[in-house]
Amino acid sequence: MSDLKTAIGELVAANRIVAAEKVCDAFGHVSMRHPEDPKKFLLSRGRAPELIEASDIMQFHLDGTVFAGSGKPYLERFIHGAIYEMRPDVNAVVHSHSYSVVPFSVVGERLRPIMHVCATIGADIPVWDAQTRFGDTDLLVANMEQGRDLAKVLGARTSVLMRGHGSTVAGGSLREAVYASVMLEVNAQLQLKARAMGEVKFLTPGEVDLIRERQNKGRPGEGFDRAWQYWLRHAGFPTDE
Ligand code: MN
Repeated sequence: MSDLKTAIGELVAANRIVAAEKVCDAFGHVSMRHPEDPKKFLLSRGRAPELIEASDIMQFHLDGTVFAGSGKPYLERFIHGAIYEMRPDVNAVVHSHSYSVVPFSVVGERLRPIMHVCATIGADIPVWDAQTRFGDTDLLVANMEQGRDLAKVLGARTSVLMRGHGSTVAGGSLREAVYASVMLEVNAQLQLKARAMGEVKFLTPGEVDLIRERQNKGRPGEGFDRAWQYWLRHAGFPTDE
């Protein structure tokens, strides 16, 4: 099987996983960098992640123009292209509106890792506010200028919240990005619960670094891979190991 065909199969599975784990509903999207050309990325045509099949996957240049495939693309594909353009280390991006995360985009309190498995989301999670540079908009990332502004706020980090809208996570691999997107929602739920009980003791940046270092050294079947196999089954896919 070609690298491209394998990548498309993994991307379809990733879409089904984020749907099954309720990170994405009718909205939200998952992309990956093209395995054979780093100047392109793979992303479905505009449809709900739960419905996506291999034939829906299109290929885009980093500026969001279509290279291959047909159908109406997601308006917000510029989120993906702008992050790939700025971050050569990023190979997959998940954008979602997962509900527990959104409150942290509209209050002063920052979303921060609270539990060891959530360290992947990163110790520092900024909030991008479309209002800052673009004034009143419909809050969607509708062009490269807005995408690049978001990518700039993300910087070298893993996660960025988008005020009154949702969040975007970037990973070195598809499995890491999917993992981080699920754990961003989990962490938001836990933080909302913990703060209702009292003052929260968050993971320290040093703890986050050590946990991430161990995860990134995980052998096949550990860490992101183990979660991936579990989530494949949850999404009704056969496990692949
Ligand atoms: Mn969106």
